[in-house]
Amino acid sequence: MTINVWNYLAEYETEREEILAAVDGVFRSGQLVLGPEVQEFEREFAGYHGAPHCVSVDNGTNALVLALRALGVGPGDEVITVSNTAAPTVIAIDAVGATPVFVDVDPDTLLMDVAQIPGALTARTRCLLPVHLYGQCVDLDPLMEIAREHGLKVLEDCAQAHGARRNGRLAGTTGDAAAFSFYPTKVLGAYGDGGAVITSDPQVDASLRRLRYYGMEERYYVESTPGHNSRLDEVQAAILRRKLKRLDDYLERRRAIADRYAEGLAGTGLALPPLAPGNDHVYYVYVVRHPERDRVIEAMGERGVSLNISYRWPVHTMKGFAHLGLGPGALPVTEAAADEIFSLPMYASLTKDDQDTVIEALRETLAAL
Ligand SMILES: *Cc1c(COP(=O)(O)O)cnc(C)c1O
Repeated sequence: MTINVWNYLAEYETEREEILAAVDGVFRSGQLVLGPEVQEFEREFAGYHGAPHCVSVDNGTNALVLALRALGVGPGDEVITVSNTAAPTVIAIDAVGATPVFVDVDPDTLLMDVAQIPGALTARTRCLLPVHLYGQCVDLDPLMEIAREHGLKVLEDCAQAHGARRNGRLAGTTGDAAAFSFYPTKVLGAYGDGGAVITSDPQVDASLRRLRYYGMEERYYVESTPGHNSRLDEVQAAILRRKLKRLDDYLERRRAIADRYAEGLAGTGLALPPLAPGNDHVYYVYVVRHPERDRVIEAMGERGVSLNISYRWPVHTMKGFAHLGLGPGALPVTEAAADEIFSLPMYASLTKDDQDTVIEALRETLAAL
């Protein structure tokens, strides 16, 4: 039996009755879209963060797109972000007609190197888009200082950082808005697609509610353009409400797995994920580094452990972004990391036996290189 990098089936067996009851409750309620489950989930997700507003949407990419629009980012604007991220971070910037501008990442944490932001600012810079990658938070204190000084909006990409904290502050509670994904693999995952934006700005909240609902406030009357249909449905909201109650438990289990990996893999020559100062990592993915990455992945596959790479191709090197004119060499730290990183199986329901199998297989593989 292969151990996959992610798998929801064991979790489903544990939570099955709860999930099926949630789904059945929606089906019997007579209301499938924008009903009470969505409303309650938004209230509860905002509450978890101590945020005044939450607007749920249909996926994390649209959470970013609509949040950028609600913050007034559009054609002619530049948005500073990183290339070491999931492509949708950058796809969202492109989708609103703005131009992504990349800074490199910190060589240890592989998170946005905030010190490089001043050098990337131009008269067109409108927004900073830090990504709390892999499950730990970018250092937002200096970033917010730059944003204030230059009148920039800040949108946090929290798709990988549900419940993560830096210096006690939850991811998503510092910038003007924060976008979350509930794609099934995420730390808080739905049984399908989902997303949300949290914000403390009532105007951003109002704008997001129109944007996800054809530009309408009242049924059939378009109040503003552009309008989209970008709603979370009742079934996913009902499931997410049940899972939100378990979020802190999921985080605890992910951290326990990370501790076990760190202990079991010490001294193997594998570079383990570093903790940035003040961070409570949520280990969306457990990313390690090794110069012989491809050989390790192949050998592990033969031992029945399937590994993943987040991410093999820095966004700026992909064909779809060739128009940005950034070839190899533009972001040396990002590019060097992309050749060495890979991720170990990580999900809250990963059993101790499977963790041990991964550790043992990896120790043997590395020793035999
Ligand atoms: C998953 C992810 C997204 C996109 O979310 P979807 O729900 O898949 O659209 C955006 N940014 C990051 C960093 C992600 O990991």
